[in-house]
Parts: sequence; C-alpha cells; structure tokens
Amino acid sequence: MTIIDLPSPNHALRPADAEVDILVLHHTELPLEKSLAVLRDGARDQRVSAHYVVAEDGTHYRLVAEAHAAWHAGPSHWRGREGLNATSIGIEIVNLHGDRHDYPAAQVDALIELCRSILARHPAIVPRNVVGHSDVAPRRKVDPGLRFPWARLATAGIGLWPRAGARPVDGDMQTALQRFGYPPAVDDVTTSDIIATFQRRFRPSREDGIADPETRALLADLLEQVGEQP
Ligand SMILES: [Zn+2]
Repeated sequence: MTIIDLPSPNHALRPADAEVDILVLHHTELPLEKSLAVLRDGARDQRVSAHYVVAEDGTHYRLVAEAHAAWHAGPSHWRGREGLNATSIGIEIVNLHGDRHDYPAAQVDALIELCRSILARHPAIVPRNVVGHSDVAPRRKVDPGLRFPWARLATAGIGLWPRAGARPVDGDMQTALQRFGYPPAVDDVTTSDIIATFQRRFRPSREDGIADPETRALLADLLEQVGEQP
C-alpha cells in the first residue's frame, strides 16, 4: 500500500474523551490535484480536510493523522450523536460524482485495504458505523453516490449490506430509521428525505423516498443484523 504524506493544516485536537468509532466515506467531486489543494488550503473561508484521499489509481494520501480530527463531515448526525468530526475518520475518494461515474477497480481494492487497516486500529468502529456522508447528512449531502460499491465493501468486512427476504418493518419508518442510526426529521429534512437517503445507500436502483415493502424489508434485515427490534 503506497501512502504519500501531504499534511493539511485543517485539523483539530480530538476531545480528551473521544473514541474514534465512525468511518465516513466521501466522494471528492473534484479531480485529484484540485482535491488535494482544497483539502490542504488553510486560507479558505470554509476550511476542510480529510484523513485520507484515495486516488483513482489507488494511491493513498494521508493529510491528517488519525489522532487528530479532520474537517470532513460538517453538521452531521449518527445514532443520536452530532458533530461527528470529533469521533470519526474521513476518507475522500476521488470521483467527480458517484451518481454518474463508477469507481475503478484499482481504487476500490485500495480503499478496501485502507479501510481494513483503519478498522484494525479502531475496533470501536463497528460495522453499522461505517457510513456515507449522505447517511449522516441527509438531503444536504449525497456522497459517495449511487454507484459506490457498498455491497462489495460489506463482503470484504467493511460495513453492512442487507439480505433479501426479511419481514418488512410495519411500524413508523422514522422511528425504525433512527433505531439504525439515521437522524430525526428536523427543519427542512423530512422523513421522505431520510427514506431516500437510506435507499441511496441500500437500494440504489430506486431512490424515491417511498417506504415500499422492499425498503421496509431491507431496513428490517439491517436492524436484525445490529440486534435492534424492527
Ligand atoms: Zn462528503
């Protein structure tokens, strides 16, 4: 695994009691060189960074040490917690838009290797805490996009993927989604937006925000996988 250190000034100390327990995956929406420039620019109004950037050829760049907080998640929520930069590791994957461009095989292989090494160092990152930026910021963010190979990663032991055939969740969808980790519907984010976010991740063939039986069954299976009541 080739890692190139290109330190970014955009980071902070983690709170003293913070345990790293979330892994957030992003697409860059920019080509490699531009991404590395933005993520290392200490003079922008909105300074941003990530711990790692994975290029299309699989090269890894380390911008922020894992011991420090990088600025990748923004306003974010998972499993009742907000402001996830403090307790997460962020990986930016070079792709101009994961809804439109496939992730090359060499890049996915390299990403899997990087994720495995991160998970080995941070055992508190349980499978349900491997998330996309979209999962933790519904409606505001859509990355890493519909073409991101979540199923392939789950097969490699990184994150979860639902099995077909579960009995659909029959209660309130918002409650069930929150039980898995999704945020509450507040401000301008509706339950339909959060259902669409769930579909974007776990049923990318149809992302319509409608809690159809298939969507309800996929959520039921995921809740079973994490030991929550459907
Ligand atoms: Zn992102």
